[in-house]
Amino acid sequence: MSHETLSNLLHEARRFAPPPELAAEANVTGDAYDDAADDRLGYWARQAERLTWAKRWDTVLDWSNPPFAKWFVGGELNVAYNCVDRHVEAGNGGKVAYHWEGEPGDTRTITYADLQREVAKAANALLELGVQKGDRVAIYMPMIPELPVTMLACARIGATHSVVFGGFSADALRTRIDDAQAKIVVTSDGGYRRGKPYALKAVVDEAVANSATITNVLVVRRTSQAVEWNGTDVWWHELVDRQSDEHDAPAHDAEHPLYILYTSGTTGKPKGILHTTGGYLTQVAWTHHAVFDLKPETDVYWCSADIGWVTGHSYIVYGPLANGATSVMYEGTPDTPHRGRWWELIEKYKVTIFYTAPTAIRTFMKWGEDIPAQHDLSSLRVLGSVGEPINPEAYVWYREHIGGDRCPVVDTWWQTETGAIMISPLPGVTSGKPGAAMRPLPGIAADVVDDQAQSVPDGGGGFLVLKEPWPSMLRTIWGDDDRFIETYWSRFENLYFAGDGAKKDDDGDLWLLGRVDDVMLVSGHNISTTEVESALVSHPKVAEAAVVGATDPVTGQAIVAFVIPRGSAGNVDGDDFVKELRDHVAKVLGAITKPRQIMVVPELPKTRSGKIMRRLLRDVAENRSLGDVTTLTDSSVMDLIAEKLPAAK
Ligand code: ATP
Ligand code: MG
Repeated sequence: MSHETLSNLLHEARRFAPPPELAAEANVTGDAYDDAADDRLGYWARQAERLTWAKRWDTVLDWSNPPFAKWFVGGELNVAYNCVDRHVEAGNGGKVAYHWEGEPGDTRTITYADLQREVAKAANALLELGVQKGDRVAIYMPMIPELPVTMLACARIGATHSVVFGGFSADALRTRIDDAQAKIVVTSDGGYRRGKPYALKAVVDEAVANSATITNVLVVRRTSQAVEWNGTDVWWHELVDRQSDEHDAPAHDAEHPLYILYTSGTTGKPKGILHTTGGYLTQVAWTHHAVFDLKPETDVYWCSADIGWVTGHSYIVYGPLANGATSVMYEGTPDTPHRGRWWELIEKYKVTIFYTAPTAIRTFMKWGEDIPAQHDLSSLRVLGSVGEPINPEAYVWYREHIGGDRCPVVDTWWQTETGAIMISPLPGVTSGKPGAAMRPLPGIAADVVDDQAQSVPDGGGGFLVLKEPWPSMLRTIWGDDDRFIETYWSRFENLYFAGDGAKKDDDGDLWLLGRVDDVMLVSGHNISTTEVESALVSHPKVAEAAVVGATDPVTGQAIVAFVIPRGSAGNVDGDDFVKELRDHVAKVLGAITKPRQIMVVPELPKTRSGKIMRRLLRDVAENRSLGDVTTLTDSSVMDLIAEKLPAAK
């Protein structure tokens, strides 16, 4: 962004108050904001009491060497004990931890007692392979129960895991293994996706072929497809199944490295984000309790993310298990064997809390509301969104067609780096505005500043920053403290720079406006791609939109939009449709935002975590050859778009 602040264009008047029954019984009330404001560190110390500590901490926060934070200094605990054993000891061993559903329809029910035995066996197996406290373990697996079991086994013995998303290539896996200097890889022969088995072991073979650090590859049999077998490969069922199902969980320091997770790399070389033990578990457990209003006795919770992303780490594994929740875990895609699979699962398991991403919601909008309408979704009571700004229209659709107009939607802003949710409504407190992440959570100091680091007034826009350390913050970039400082702490002195643009509305509520790199400069105005996309999605015939700024001789940058029509849109081929959309945007946001060009496309390029990759669309809009497409889910999407390209108008 240039010297100017971000224009604040979108006006949204709709409000959704918390349902009175939910508000009356809510886990967290409005008082939490005052409590945390009075004594921020005392507030976090009270949240840390939710965990079981082997040794209590001496100091809540040591910030004597910023930006390197230490939380709960002197405290000791075991994450796996907190997530599993203590629930069994409390008499909840028979409670379901995961209702697991494979894509082909096979199921497994895993109780906390089952999980305790499985984690102990896996921990003993890792020890037998020579994995020691402090070693790194790479995990490259499908969404099967052995994945959380392996993560917890690592946490238990103090090995630091590095989960690599199962859709990444051998190259991507190799880079991450080398960077973390992992000692072993845990994988499976493969998994199921879109009705077919795919291979993982073969990818691992390629990735570790010349590895200097890998001593063994531990392999779960999931699909029974043929695999090559090397001398250092070990079958899970041969090694893990014969282990003792008892293992004493040692206490680890609150700052012991729990995991490394590489950010998806939408913006460059992947960064190994390091999370540690006590502060991380405190914040994921508390946010899961507060933001989703989780009642572990009665709720059935489902987060549809892949565990390969931070959302899965924090809100499929660590947060829910620390809270003793019952979760659904699903292996496959939403359209296999049919487009109602997710709604079928919600109906089957009577899911009460559902957490997904805007990209999924917009896909369901495209497919049409008659699909969820065929299922009984009346068990739902809270809906969550994460990953991108949620367009107001997608929020309203989600609330209405999935949430039956009764469930609050919590739009949760956070990052791999923040470890846990930072900005979000509280479902029993906040009157939600469609498209707004609303307020920093109690105990979190977020603000929007201009390029002089001054807080912008209500109604203004600028850069999202975090002003105080938080318990689940990244501690560094693995092996690269300089890059940690350079990336997050050098744009503004003493402030964490998140890389996202945001605005404050007239009430002081926060709206995320996408990455700062994506902001457009049109005739001297900074305009957010998110706002123009949301204006397009508010047209009844549009399901999804991506907007980029292309160099323009007159305006500096001009707005170029790519839209996917809804299934119900009818004929969208002619110039009339494009004109209708351009006029619609001008009406909603003002004439300056009228796109120069709109292309109707069948798909949009997305990262493997489902985010729109505007960089590639910018290449298209500026008639350049395409940049790196390796992080795309499906690179043929770009061919489909190229076919649709008119000569630039
Ligand atoms: P990389 O940093 O490697 O480019 P990434 O930023 O996509 O990848 P994540 O850490 O998974 O990886 O995503 C965090 C980013 O996602 C945020 O910085 C923000 O841009 C976006 N985001 C997440 N949740 C929200 C939300 N609720 N509203 C708006 N944006 C969100
Ligand atoms: Mg990022």
